[in-house]
Amino acid sequence: MGIQLPVVSAPARPSPGVGRTADARDTLGRPLRDLRISVTDRCNFRCVYCMPKELYGQGYRFLPSAELLDFEEIVRLVRVFVRLGVHKVRLTGGEPLIRPGIERLVQMLAGLDGVDDVTLTTNGSLLASKAAALQAAGLGRVTVSLDSLRDEVFGQMNDVRFPVSRVLDGIDRAAAVGLRPIKVNAVVKRGVNDADVLDLARHFRGTGHTLRFIEYMDVGHSNGWQLDEVVPAAEIVDRIDAIFPLEPVEAEYPGEVATRYRYRDGAGEIGMIASVTRPFCGDCTRARLSAEGFLYTCLFATEGHDLRRLVRGDKEDEVIEGALRDIWGARSDRYSELRSSATADLPKVEMSYIGG
Ligand code: SF4
Repeated sequence: MGIQLPVVSAPARPSPGVGRTADARDTLGRPLRDLRISVTDRCNFRCVYCMPKELYGQGYRFLPSAELLDFEEIVRLVRVFVRLGVHKVRLTGGEPLIRPGIERLVQMLAGLDGVDDVTLTTNGSLLASKAAALQAAGLGRVTVSLDSLRDEVFGQMNDVRFPVSRVLDGIDRAAAVGLRPIKVNAVVKRGVNDADVLDLARHFRGTGHTLRFIEYMDVGHSNGWQLDEVVPAAEIVDRIDAIFPLEPVEAEYPGEVATRYRYRDGAGEIGMIASVTRPFCGDCTRARLSAEGFLYTCLFATEGHDLRRLVRGDKEDEVIEGALRDIWGARSDRYSELRSSATADLPKVEMSYIGG
């Protein structure tokens, strides 16, 4: 019968007056806490589930630098987002470490009032050489994508034959300079790298790094997603638990993306990001900003809101704040709860354009 997509009812609205009064709330009562900023649509990998080479090949027109928000514009927008309740900023891409001067942006964001968590998601290819400067600039922690420990499988998934060892060197370097905690994300695609689940778990046990398995998602509309290529989180947990017994761990805060487990023998934690079989839209407090300044209120959105026009139009911060409050206030996204064969072909924004 295959995987059954869950049917979830709308979450209860929180009672009025919860949290800071200036906090923006969407139509489901969800606050805005977490802003993910794509600083480039470019990447040096061509991961098959995100940026397939057939589409992002030689002739692909990436955003020219003049169309990208510059660092001052990004910082100005973040300052306004803080007024709405944002306190966590995640830098993404494409691959954020290929944006020249990224350390300077980290420094500018780390110094902002109200921002108490600046983190970054990277494919790890440049981490070994940049970790120290990022840490010195104020980056607190880092998330690294690594889908397999076998070069041939990893090479197949990133499609540029990038060696695993250089990503592992990046993780070691990041740990050595104090970029902790480190989270390692592995997207699991049936028939491609699902046989690597135990190897990955075995490798990161006892390292202090948290390995998270991500269910393969129908992000964008170019990765040819098929439901039967999804390995449900429950199956991954069962596979690991059979060898390394696990126990569930309570979420640290509402809206935490991963469902957490710890090894019963104390060897650390793993996480499951199960957008397909266990959607978590009810507590979703995330917004995404593209490198050219479009705001998306869901990873699976089909349209964004042009904030660059406001920033470059010399609008006062109050005007931008008002626009953001209207956008978030009207938000009702819960794609993963509504996912069906009918939604898979929607013209959803590409993940490489707004980051994961
Ligand atoms: S599908 Fe959209 S609303 Fe749901 S958790 Fe993901 S980003 Fe949030």
